Order: sequence, then C-alpha cells, then structure tokens
Amino acid sequence: MMHTHFKNRKRTDSDYDVLIVGAGFSGLYLLHRLRGSGFKVRIVDRASDVGGTWFWNRYPGARCDVESMQYAYSFSPELEQEWVWSEKYATQPEILRYARHVAERFDLRRDIEFDTTVESAVFDESNHQWRIETSEGRTISANFCVMATGCLSTTNTPHFEGLDSFKGTIYHTGNWPHETVDFSGEKVGVIGTGSSAIQAIPLIAKQAKHLYVFQRTPHYTVPAWNRRIESDPDTKTSGRRAYGYDADLTIEEIKADYAGLRGRARKMFNALAFIPNRKSALEVDDIERQNGYEGFWQRGGVVFLGAYTDIGTSLEANETAAEFVREKIRRTVNDPVVAEALVPTYTIGCKRLAVDTDYYETYNRSNVTLVDVGQSPIQKFTQQGVYALDQEFTLDSLIMATGFDAMTGTLLKIDIRGRSGLTLEDKWIDGPKGYLGLGIAGFPNMFMITGPGSPSVLTNMMQSIEQHVDWIVGCLEYLRNHNISTIEATESAEDDWAAHNDAVADNHMRNSCSSWYVGGNIEGKPRVFMPYVGGFPRYVEKCNEVADQNYLGFTLTT
Ligand SMILES: Cc1cc2nc3c(=O)[nH]c(=O)nc-3n(C[C@H](O)[C@H](O)[C@H](O)COP(=O)(O)OP(=O)(O)OC[C@H]3O[C@@H](n4cnc5c(N)ncnc54)[C@H](O)[C@@H]3O)c2cc1C
Repeated sequence: MMHTHFKNRKRTDSDYDVLIVGAGFSGLYLLHRLRGSGFKVRIVDRASDVGGTWFWNRYPGARCDVESMQYAYSFSPELEQEWVWSEKYATQPEILRYARHVAERFDLRRDIEFDTTVESAVFDESNHQWRIETSEGRTISANFCVMATGCLSTTNTPHFEGLDSFKGTIYHTGNWPHETVDFSGEKVGVIGTGSSAIQAIPLIAKQAKHLYVFQRTPHYTVPAWNRRIESDPDTKTSGRRAYGYDADLTIEEIKADYAGLRGRARKMFNALAFIPNRKSALEVDDIERQNGYEGFWQRGGVVFLGAYTDIGTSLEANETAAEFVREKIRRTVNDPVVAEALVPTYTIGCKRLAVDTDYYETYNRSNVTLVDVGQSPIQKFTQQGVYALDQEFTLDSLIMATGFDAMTGTLLKIDIRGRSGLTLEDKWIDGPKGYLGLGIAGFPNMFMITGPGSPSVLTNMMQSIEQHVDWIVGCLEYLRNHNISTIEATESAEDDWAAHNDAVADNHMRNSCSSWYVGGNIEGKPRVFMPYVGGFPRYVEKCNEVADQNYLGFTLTT
C-alpha cells in the first residue's frame, strides 16, 4: 500500500505519520483505521501483548460489567457475526482472547512494538513533529501522536507506613501475575472494596484459608446474574437468553440485527442499549417504586441506575434507590453489625456502581472477616501483616485492590512537552483541561482517546473508543486533503468546554462524593470532575458539529 505522508520531510526509519501509544482496544482499532486510510502508523506498548486493560487486570473474577454483546467492537459486521461470547459478562481471559483475535484477524501485530514504554514526547516546533523517546533509548518521530494510553492503566498504591517490611507476597489487582496464583491454605488480606475487589473477593474467599477485607468506604454493588449464553454446539439449539437490558434476546436474535442494538445504544446517555424507566422515582407510590427497583435489580447490572429518570439528578430520588440497595444488603448479610458496616450512606452512582456475583453473600462465610477501617485507618504494615483497630492481622498474602490514578495518571507519567516547552504537568497543575477530551491547547498534533472532558468511563467504552477513533481518522484525512500540517485546540474553545463540563457536573449526583472520577483516591490530586457527564449523544453531536465546521475550536496551519 502507498503511504501518504504529510509534507516533504526528511525521514528516518522511525518516522511515522502517526505514532500511537497503547495497544488496547483504542490503539488496535485506530491502527486498523489509519492503515486503511494509507497512513504510516506504529503502535508502541509497554505490555508484551495486545489488550491493555485485559492484559494487565488478571485477578480472579475480572470480567466486564457491560454485557459482552455490547462490550465488543461494532466497526466490523463480520467480526460481530463470527465472534461468540460464552457468558453474559465475559471473563478477562475471554476478552483478552478477543483482543488477540482482532489483532490477528486484521493483521495488526506487524505494526506493534511491545515491551516498549514511552517516557517522553516532545513537540519540535521547527518541523512540527513529535519526538518520542522510549525506555530502550530509542527515538521515534511522528507528525501526530495519539495517546491511546487508557483511562485506568496506572495503578495506585496509597502510601502505608511499613508496607515494604511485609514479608508475604503483595499483589495489585491492576498488575496481576500471568501465572496462576493459588491462595489455598493462606491468610489473605484485601485492601479496598471498589469494583475490582468486589469481583475478586467472592472467588478468593472460596480458596483462602481466611480472608480479611479491609474496608475504608463501603461500595454499592448490584447483582450481575451472569450466565452462559452461547448455543449448544451439539444440539444446535438456540443460545440461552443473552441479553437483558433492552430485550430478552439470544445471541442469534441479537446478531440478526446487531446494527439495531448498536443504534439504540448510541442514543443512550451511557452508550448502552437498555430500556430505562421514563418515570420519576418521586411521582410513583411506594409499592410501584419498590416494584420498579426490584425489576431493575432482577435485570442486573449497571442499568439499575436507569430504574427512574431522576436518580442521577435529584438527591431525594437518589435516596430511594440507595435505600432499596441498603435493604438488600441488610437482608443478605446475616450479621447485622457486618451488614451495617457494608451499607454505604452516600448517594448511589456517585462512585462507579459495581456489578457482582455473590459479593454480600460472601460475608456470611465463616472464613471471611470484614475489617472496617472507615473510622480509624490502617495504622501500619508489619512483617507479618496489617496493624489496624489496635490489633495485628497476620497474613500470607496482601492484595492491593486500590484502583488507578484514573484518566490523567498515565499521561502525566510521560514527560509530554508541547509548544514552547510547555509541560503537560504544568498545564494540568490545577486539573486536566482539554477540548472535548480529544485535544489540548499548547499541544499541537496530539490527540487523546477518551481523555478527560469526554464521556469515556461513564459510558460503554467500546462505543466511546470507536467514536473517538472515527473522529480522529476523519480529522487526519481532512488535514491531509487540505495540506494542513498542524492542528491545535484553542484556549478559548478549551475554556468554554471546561465551563460547560463543570456546569453539567455541578448538580449531578456523580459529583456529590469523593471518587476516582474527581481524583479523590489520589492524595493531592486537584478535584475536577474529569469525565463529561452531559451524556454520549450530546457529546457526539458536539464532536460532529466541530468536524462539520472544519474543526471549529481548533487552529489549523498549513
Ligand atoms: C477491571 C476493569 C474492568 C473494566 N470493565 C469495563 C467494562 O465492563 N465496560 C467498559 O466500558 N469499560 C470497562 N473498563 C474500562 C476499560 O479500561 C476500557 O473499556 C478499555 O479496555 C480501554 O481501552 P484503551 O485501549 O483505551 O486503554 P487500555 O486498555 O488501558 O490500554 C492502554 C495501553 O496503553 C499502554 N500504555 C500506557 N502508558 C504507556 C506508555 N507510557 N508507554 C507505552 N505504553 C503505554 C498500556 O500498557 C495499555 O496496554 C474496565 C477497566 C478495568 C480496569
């Protein structure tokens, strides 16, 4: 294939039209699209294989919490038709197999370099190129650099006194070993009770001799009702009901109109096809309200927040949903003291709603102890374990389920320097700012995928990733066709977008507590509500408007 290069520039072996950092679902699809448009493209990733999130997060119980049939690419109808998910919510190994299948099916591997960490990216104003330095001391030049580095790809381990002295093994859910970890016969401690912990705890409890869960803040979680969904290959009988969010369909029925499902998803706030209730929680009587919540509880999954229209916007409505879940916890957990410690008091949905299999039931096991460190934090780590509530918990293994430095952490770990040597660190000193979560003023020819200021983690990420990739490819084609060598977000467009972001987030319940959405899990991180909470359709409309008006809000130079 002929490569179409920007302008006449001196080239080296490492000179590309586009350098993509990251070979997760974002990077893979972007490579496929850009290559198809004739660009010379390269991906680098610090991992040793494709898959991103699904390469790193191998802890027991790791799986998607958007139904598999929706947590999959839509760009290739053939791929959609040929891939068969086995469970309503696929496990990490299955999702990783899917990523590998995509890499092979579209022959992507030949343009990916693994085990390569990008340490710096510097914009050279003399030739309008990015100079990217890797941990191996290589320099790669590219006209455009796309950070497909992931929203949840830099693990966070809070500072604990004495952690280094612990003699047992320490794991982090977000950087789990590739070999099987066996906790049989062990005393295991889990630090944290967010989404990853909620998936891992029930499985580790079944294996470990004793499991201690150290909980600072209880988390809301709703049942997954996970199940196998594929057809029986022997009898060729239709698959079991695969999909409960907007209709009770089998895999075959979905595949008969996959485009329809995707279309419905794109119209939804969270880019997820489901049928929300159109009523306010406050307009119905108690019995109808309880029945409404029960119906969504029985569907399972994150769509629980769609049980009524105003759970996200009215504290009073939100409280009715929260109280419904609290009652479920109280009824499930036998020990009333443990149950009460597991009951969250803040607004539901403010922290990312978790989706579980037997999470609360696990606390009825005799080998599981909840250590509630909400009022009095872990005092220190010792050689033997954890010292908390004035006693020592002796442990063989310790699992940090302490999440990520979300949305900005990975970008800020790279020494990114834009125009006039401006560092991203300085630019974002008071919190991240960008135009549509795609571009950043002062950093020409650099794009982010699902960056801060885009709906990203509030949506089905597959839809958001595809939308960003399509937009970026359209933009690069436009620039090539018009002989434009640089594109850069203007500060005023960026400021206007930030103001709009803040305005929609201001009264939203997602902004009403400390969470990783606002950087609350990282000490010293400026409090900014990072993802765009105005909804996927509104966001897409804005992106399309910008493109239709020749990239309004960006400065283009030839
Ligand atoms: C446990 C877990 C479960 C999730 N479940 C869901 C779900 O059900 N539904 C959903 O929509 N989303 C889910 N997500 C979010 C998930 O991150 C996205 O869905 C998606 O996988 C992101 O893809 P990505 O390619 O943008 O980023 P990633 O998959 O994070 O890939 C980024 C890649 O960039 C690489 N990288 C980063 N920095 C550098 C550097 N400096 N140099 C070289 N390489 C670098 C990383 O190694 C990584 O491979 C989940 C996340 C986690 C952690």
